[in-house]
Amino acid sequence: MSDMTGDDASRRVDIAIIGGGLVGASLGCALAPLIRRRGLEVAVIEAAPLPEDLHAPWQPSFDARASAIAQGSVQHFRELGLWSALVEQAAPIRRIHVSEQGRLGVTRLRAEELDSEALGQVIPNAWMGRVLHRRLADLPLGWHCPARVEEIEPVPSGHRLALSDGARLEAGLTVLADGGRSGLKERLGIESRERPYEQVALIASIEADRPHGGVAYERFTTAGPMALLPLRGQAMELVWTHEAGQEQQRLAASDGDFLAQLQRAFGDRAGRFRRVGRRHAYPLSLVTARETTRPGLAVMGNAAHALHPVAGQGFNLALRGVMDLVAALESGLDRGEAPGSPAVLQEFERRRAGDRHNVIRFSDGLVRLFGLDSALLSHARAAGLVGLNLTGPLRRTLARRAMGVER
Ligand SMILES: Cc1cc2nc3c(=O)[nH]c(=O)nc-3n(C[C@H](O)[C@H](O)[C@H](O)COP(=O)(O)OP(=O)(O)OC[C@H]3O[C@@H](n4cnc5c(N)ncnc54)[C@H](O)[C@@H]3O)c2cc1C
Repeated sequence: MSDMTGDDASRRVDIAIIGGGLVGASLGCALAPLIRRRGLEVAVIEAAPLPEDLHAPWQPSFDARASAIAQGSVQHFRELGLWSALVEQAAPIRRIHVSEQGRLGVTRLRAEELDSEALGQVIPNAWMGRVLHRRLADLPLGWHCPARVEEIEPVPSGHRLALSDGARLEAGLTVLADGGRSGLKERLGIESRERPYEQVALIASIEADRPHGGVAYERFTTAGPMALLPLRGQAMELVWTHEAGQEQQRLAASDGDFLAQLQRAFGDRAGRFRRVGRRHAYPLSLVTARETTRPGLAVMGNAAHALHPVAGQGFNLALRGVMDLVAALESGLDRGEAPGSPAVLQEFERRRAGDRHNVIRFSDGLVRLFGLDSALLSHARAAGLVGLNLTGPLRRTLARRAMGVER
């Protein structure tokens, strides 16, 4: 990657991507054909320093965070030529087991029912980051890292960016993929709707006394949903939702006490839990930006939508956005349109609006349906789960949506 800091201050680029996290880095990789064949000038700005050696032997960590990737996303990574590297540390989800604490209903979704080898894959975030950053390093693009975009200002030709390392960029299209917490969105006057769930997700690696067999578990409790996702080997990633404040005691508990509490909440369906890694807590809200495009600007990933993680949809949704933006850019270039032109961004918005709306409604509905506690609703939920088990088409729809093959 070329280093544009210093001498290249106030350089003009076609596209500036603010944030080289999972979404910004995926976009950088997906732009490769347009960089190579159409000569597009792209810069990626990432605030956090990267590991020194992206090719050093991979040390799997029991504490690593991981994400469930839908089969639709696997297909996109195949198209980008990244899957052969990602799969090295991926664990396939062969079955999904959905249950509710204190109720009889259980739903099982199997990959073979959908003529698929897997319902999805679970990949450590750090491995995804490494694969994406290795690919970025091979591309002729401007790479500013570590550097933070401190100022953003609309100008007639796009946006002007001031970086913490002193560089200045002027971009025809600026993609805000900063995760939504840097204040840049607010500085542009883009408001967000925020609805706190009053819940916190506690994340940790877990190991049981028997192999997980590629089963992902979703369990709904009155305190909120919990999920166990299979990782390579025998470990699983736990996502355990707590009412805000309740997580403190579980963060502070000894490993033994924590495992005993988890066992009580989860039952024996995944075996006896015997090891837990470092625990992390994430407060949960539904955050959606009121605008996701303006002339010369696209807002993507968590900056556009931060969802409850129980349905594992946030990154999958964002990756579809990445693919749609690249498609809109390419057809715009064919028509002679610049990357930041209103026509290109309107096409992107047209492609995205329905998917975004459906996934946000689906994830939010899932949390609300199973998070509410009333006797009537509890029966309805249990019946819903049993009903899902009994009615094939509905179950298949849920599975197809979880796989990301149905929008
Ligand atoms: C507990 C949990 C579990 C999840 N599990 C799943 C799952 O199983 N499947 C799924 O699909 N999704 C999942 N998600 C959602 C997924 O993690 C997000 O969709 C994804 O991380 C969003 O990536 P991003 O690149 O938009 O944001 P981020 O990952 O926040 O990256 C933003 C990047 O921008 C950089 N940055 C910030 N400000 C600046 C600035 N001013 N200048 C330059 N750089 C800047 C940051 O350093 C960072 O690297 C989960 C989320 C949570 C919280």
